[in-house]
Amino acid sequence: MRLHVWSIPMTTRFRGITVREGVLLEGDHGWGEFSPFVEYDDPTAVPWLASAREASRHDWPTPLRRYVPVNVTVPAVGPDRAREIVLASHGCTTAKVKVAEPGQSLAEAQARLEAVRDALGRSGRIRIDVNGLWTLDQALADLPVLDRAAGGLEYVEQPCATVEELAALRRRTGVPIAADESIRRAEDPYRVRDLEAADIAVLKVQPLGGVRACLRIAEEIGLPVVVSSALESSVGLAAGVALAAALPELPYACGLATGQLLAGDLVDTPLTVIDGALEVVGIRVTPGSLAAAEPEADRVAWWTDRVKRVSELLAD
Ligand SMILES: [Mg+2]
Repeated sequence: MRLHVWSIPMTTRFRGITVREGVLLEGDHGWGEFSPFVEYDDPTAVPWLASAREASRHDWPTPLRRYVPVNVTVPAVGPDRAREIVLASHGCTTAKVKVAEPGQSLAEAQARLEAVRDALGRSGRIRIDVNGLWTLDQALADLPVLDRAAGGLEYVEQPCATVEELAALRRRTGVPIAADESIRRAEDPYRVRDLEAADIAVLKVQPLGGVRACLRIAEEIGLPVVVSSALESSVGLAAGVALAAALPELPYACGLATGQLLAGDLVDTPLTVIDGALEVVGIRVTPGSLAAAEPEADRVAWWTDRVKRVSELLAD
């Protein structure tokens, strides 16, 4: 198995980072991406390595569809910018809109949602992402206001921080609830299911240990799944697409249109959104496609050492 350490600047600061780094594993069956965030400790990175190994050592499960619909993401911007982002989204008919931005008023979020509805039209779908920032009381007060401003919400993603709060809110609102931050480790989805805390599960391939692990989780929790990225290159995104393509049901657009957050890529033909969807196609990594993502020598040493340490924790 060969390792290729890579580094790509971000186009927009996101999650407080300006550079995305990781390792590609080249195996007999293809390429896998290992890109746990640098602040994660080694045990947290174990499922991320399992996911990269799966991609390099096995073919993907049989795809059940040729295209995976994806959402456009609208950050906490003003209404004019929000409209522009939706109109430039290459045909996305679902928008995920960030709300509850610290320092912003509810009126600003309302104006953003009205602009997004205007740009999408009546048939478009709008979901909001709160990133766990509301208290239960705030959620009960603000969710109906934003539901009205959007002309009906598809769902609200992670309205509060804890699974208990999600469960309590779910009993008191008609807006479906999606769990995102509440699902970060393999055991989390079962807790969300057991507490009946969500209507939808957001699954990310790397933190949950790979495509097959996610398919198993999806089957066992019995909730509809939205596949999302972990801010990956097209190599990591391709694993998300493979999962979305193999799910028996895919009622919602996926959060896999994040490629444009990176200023470069690692493949010959980056995954791009056409008519609001990503096509289920193979990726090609070549010396040429890797050349532009060459990291500094000290980062190569850091990541090589990290793979070695995490490998020792991952039973083969
Ligand atoms: Mg989210």
